Amino acid sequence: MITFETFEYDVLVIGAGGAGLRAAIEASAAGVKVGLICKSLLGKAHTVMAEGGVAAALANVDDRDSWKVHFADTMRGGQYINNWRMAELHAKEAPDRVRELEAWGAVFDRTKDGRILQRNFGGHRYPRLAHVGDRTGLELIRTLQDYGVHRGLDVHMEFTVVSLLMSDGRAAGVIGYERERGRFKAFNAGAVVLATGGAGRAYKITSNSWEGTGDGHALAYRAGAELMDMEFIQFHPTGMIWPPSVQGILVTEGVRGEGGILLNKDGRRFMFDDIPEPYRNQTADNEEEGWRYTQGDKNARRPPELLTRDHVARCIMREVKAGRGSPHGGVFLDIAWIKKKMSNADAHIKRKLPSMYHQFKELGDIDITQDPMEVGPTTHYIMGGVRVDSDSQMSTVPGLFAAGECAAGINGANRLGGNSLSDLLVFGKRAGQYAAAFAKEHRRVPIDRIAAQKAADEALKPFEHGPGKSENPYAIQAQLQETMQGLVGIVRTESEMQHALTDLAALEKRAAHAGVTGHREYNPGWHTAIDLRNLLTVSEAVTRSAIERKESRGGHFRDDYPDKNPEYATFNIVTRQRADGSMEVRREPLPPMPAELKQIIEEQKS
Ligand SMILES: Cc1cc2nc3c(=O)[nH]c(=O)nc-3n(C[C@H](O)[C@H](O)[C@H](O)COP(=O)(O)OP(=O)(O)OC[C@H]3O[C@@H](n4cnc5c(N)ncnc54)[C@H](O)[C@@H]3O)c2cc1C
Repeated sequence: MITFETFEYDVLVIGAGGAGLRAAIEASAAGVKVGLICKSLLGKAHTVMAEGGVAAALANVDDRDSWKVHFADTMRGGQYINNWRMAELHAKEAPDRVRELEAWGAVFDRTKDGRILQRNFGGHRYPRLAHVGDRTGLELIRTLQDYGVHRGLDVHMEFTVVSLLMSDGRAAGVIGYERERGRFKAFNAGAVVLATGGAGRAYKITSNSWEGTGDGHALAYRAGAELMDMEFIQFHPTGMIWPPSVQGILVTEGVRGEGGILLNKDGRRFMFDDIPEPYRNQTADNEEEGWRYTQGDKNARRPPELLTRDHVARCIMREVKAGRGSPHGGVFLDIAWIKKKMSNADAHIKRKLPSMYHQFKELGDIDITQDPMEVGPTTHYIMGGVRVDSDSQMSTVPGLFAAGECAAGINGANRLGGNSLSDLLVFGKRAGQYAAAFAKEHRRVPIDRIAAQKAADEALKPFEHGPGKSENPYAIQAQLQETMQGLVGIVRTESEMQHALTDLAALEKRAAHAGVTGHREYNPGWHTAIDLRNLLTVSEAVTRSAIERKESRGGHFRDDYPDKNPEYATFNIVTRQRADGSMEVRREPLPPMPAELKQIIEEQKS
């Protein structure tokens, strides 16, 4: 029998990335008692890695920008299966959230007249990304953390939540363990906000940190919430590919925003070869025009390197498959070429892209001011997540909210770069506000201590299995990542995904016998065994949803159904756990879009 201490809060936020911190700040501003839990140290959440910027139609660099253009760009990027209400709220509220961040102390790069500077990014019609060099996430976290800590948030760091606890059909709290000592603690709360980030660790090649194991997705699913759009994984076109030890590390889209171009092994700028019809009018048809766009010429159209990520990633794969790739299986990304255009190019590159300069110098021994980088697609972001109400962010489970990367809706089939950091701010705030209101309206119900005990026992099972007669959790995790990378990756087919389901079922059986040695204190094998359950749930949801979507759209490309099917533009795919524990997959019709929003989309098509 495990003993555990119990803490009580009105609102409990799981995750201290941008979404969690923003939610906690807002809930605390509503005057309720807020607890914040995170798996890593405060300040180390994955958001800290965000580079390029936060998208908001401030119109500081191009006064033609507005929430309407941002809304239309987001919907087109998501191929029109986004939750239109979330896309609308996001576009309308992002500018205020960015200005608020500035008021709280964030030091953004500046225009000559002292306003927040904005840069170009893929799929955004005008320069829209407020940024701090290529270290925007660090500044965002630093600012929110500083502000939040001074509001008196109660933080529990290096603590892994293993189960949500339900009482009277509502979320009533969580149970988990301290990573340092292995001690269990329970939390009783009036409302719970999940802000646990993504699930990139289900794949072998990923830009995601170790935390991205889909915990929030799986916790919500097991508590009866619905997941949506899980088939849509974003493979960012430019990750490092060489040397092998750094494979997957992100190369920010900011490089292309600053004028970087993609070349195949023959030095050909292949992105001009294939420009999708919906973007044709807004894309440059020659190199000179593309360059002028990156330098702020309002009469120029964007270069094809700044098309949406799903498209750019597929163009790269096409070059590689056709034997025109770089020596290590990618293509070249060249920013050094801008020397031909500006006299102070070296200093300019180092100033605009300091992290990229150091990343390549230190990890790949490449000076990006002189030589091209070798890049290829890397698993970057999951558009799918917990299905939430667009305004309040409450899931289908009363009292359970979700925000940030672990929630679904705003991005549809593909996320535009920069729209995540703004999503964290806009919907983090909303989740905190509505969770606080929920907690005030509904009295806290006590946690189910038997369920908590059961969850703790379950989490400790790997110690019972012992060495010799058990499975190695690392080996299972590696196999899982191989399966998802190879069979449910950038290009998918029915037969391969059916094969993946069989593999996942076998891995699940093995995971039930995962065993670890040693003590509970900082035991990485144990942590891996616990993560496995979440990764397996997320992987199954991704695979089943991807099988159900028999077309190609956004981040989901089917070799056996290479075209978009208009019928599939009318619904989202939703997964839910049945009473017998199996996974149900169903189609949820998209709510009808109001005429005024339809009109905005039409107006922005030209
Ligand atoms: C290299 C890189 C660069 C990027 N650049 C940009 C960019 O420029 N612009 C942009 O818009 N987006 C960018 N993104 C995407 C963006 O950074 C993420 O989508 C976003 O930061 C996710 O934030 P979040 O708050 O949802 O979650 P995260 O920042 O991932 O935080 C999750 C939190 O949940 C905690 N947690 C998870 N599971 C548990 C558990 N079981 N128990 C307790 N705590 C738990 C973690 O410890 C962490 O505190 C980038 C992503 C990467 C990888």
